[in-house]
Formats: sequence, C-alpha cells, structure tokens
Amino acid sequence: MRYAALASGSKGNCHAFSDGDRTLLIDAGISLKQVRLRMESLGLDPDSVRAVALTHEHSDHIGAVGVMLRNTDWAFLATPETKAVVEAIQRIEIPPQRWIPLRAGFAVDWGGWRVHPFTLPHDAEDPVAYRVECNGFNAAVVTDLGHPTALVADHCRDLDLLVLEANHDVDMLRGGDYPPPLKARILSRVGHLSNASMAELLASVLSKRLRTVVMAHLSEQNNDPDLVRVVASEVLRGWSTALHLAHQRDPFRLEPPEVLAASL
Ligand SMILES: [Zn+2]
Ligand SMILES: [Zn+2]
Repeated sequence: MRYAALASGSKGNCHAFSDGDRTLLIDAGISLKQVRLRMESLGLDPDSVRAVALTHEHSDHIGAVGVMLRNTDWAFLATPETKAVVEAIQRIEIPPQRWIPLRAGFAVDWGGWRVHPFTLPHDAEDPVAYRVECNGFNAAVVTDLGHPTALVADHCRDLDLLVLEANHDVDMLRGGDYPPPLKARILSRVGHLSNASMAELLASVLSKRLRTVVMAHLSEQNNDPDLVRVVASEVLRGWSTALHLAHQRDPFRLEPPEVLAASL
C-alpha cells in the first residue's frame, strides 16, 4: 500500500491511497489538474484513481468535486447528508451510479478494501474521517475535528499509518490576526485540533504497530512546523514511529517498507 499526501491545509486537502492497481482519494480540495500533476510527480498513475471519499462539505475538501464529476468517471463516497450539501454548494447532481453511499460507523467493502467512515466533532453537516484497510494495512486520515473523542481514538487503534490534524498552537491563534469570531470557531469543540489536543489523542493511540504518523492540516498563520515536530516528537519519544508533516504545496509519498514495515 502506498500513501501520498497530495495537499493538506486550509487551502485544499487531498490524500491518496494506492495498491498499485487502484487509488482512492480522500477529499477533493485541490484541482483535478493539480491532483494529476502531483500524482505524476510522485510516480503515481492518475489513471489508477477510481473514487474520491469525501469527509465534509467545507471548500478546502470539495472544491474540485464538480470538475471531477464532469471530467472523470470516478465514484464519490459520501454520506447522504454530505452528498446533498455538496450538490447544493457545487450546483451539481452526483448520479446514483457515481455515488457510493456511506453511513458513519459502518464500513463498506470497496473492491476488497475496507473503507470505514466515522464521526468527527466538526461544524459541518455530517463530518467523517476515514479508516482504510487493505491487504493487512490499516491507515486513517483524521483532520477537521474540534477535540479528541473516545470514538475517534477507538478508530485510530491498531493502525500502521495515522494522518492526524495538528492545526494550531492555541497561543499563536489567540495572539494572531484572525477576527475574534474566526478564532472562536477554530478554538471551539467543533473547530480544529490544536497541537496540545493532537498530542493528547496521539498519546492515547500509540502502539508498536503504528510505524508512521503524518501531521496534517497545519495552519500557515497559527502554527509552526518546527513546533509541531517538537510536540509530536515528545509524544513519540521511545517509540520507533516515523514522523512526517504534510504540506499545502509540497506533496510526498510513503510506501513500503516504511509504511508497511509493521505488517509485512
Ligand atoms: Zn479543512
Ligand atoms: Zn472543515
């Protein structure tokens, strides 16, 4: 299994999982052109993409859905609530044959992969994160959540790879230039995950199996990559878990043996 962080941050999110034959994207927050360019730059075949799993309707996660609908044959995995609100925002209609309906808490079989959406505390219609399991490889992409919940932690156990939000440093956000209502939204229980809350969640799900952690959805204004590294490294001290930071503009790819080391 290969994983690629194609883009991560408030200007657009897209993650890719590929078994070599088929690729599943998580979110469509960067343009179709950028998805293709970035996959090619990483040696991944854009024609292997079969579907996009949507987490929620915020623009940094769905901006390219309309273009993808018109210009590809990809399927869209989404809950009925998210599908409806994405269709309203993008003024599109995802036809039944292009829609794989999801319900938070229930895994679906996607050609032998297990794709399991689960609920997040976030200010959207029906926000979910995804756990993806394929050939004994377990991964989860968990961003856009206001606080760690027991349910989220439960789904982050026994993973080989965890992509986890580290959105902001609370002091940087409080002292920064954002308007007070926006600060309040981000800091709320349904906003975004602070570095401190990320550390709390990460500490609760550490295991020998978890070989790779990717910090994601970092705020460019209210966080500092070096600070995220310090906070996460402190949690990971004593564990042989590799740490990576996903970027808005610089995609990267992880693959065996690093990603799969624990399950080979
Ligand atoms: Zn987001
Ligand atoms: Zn969001």
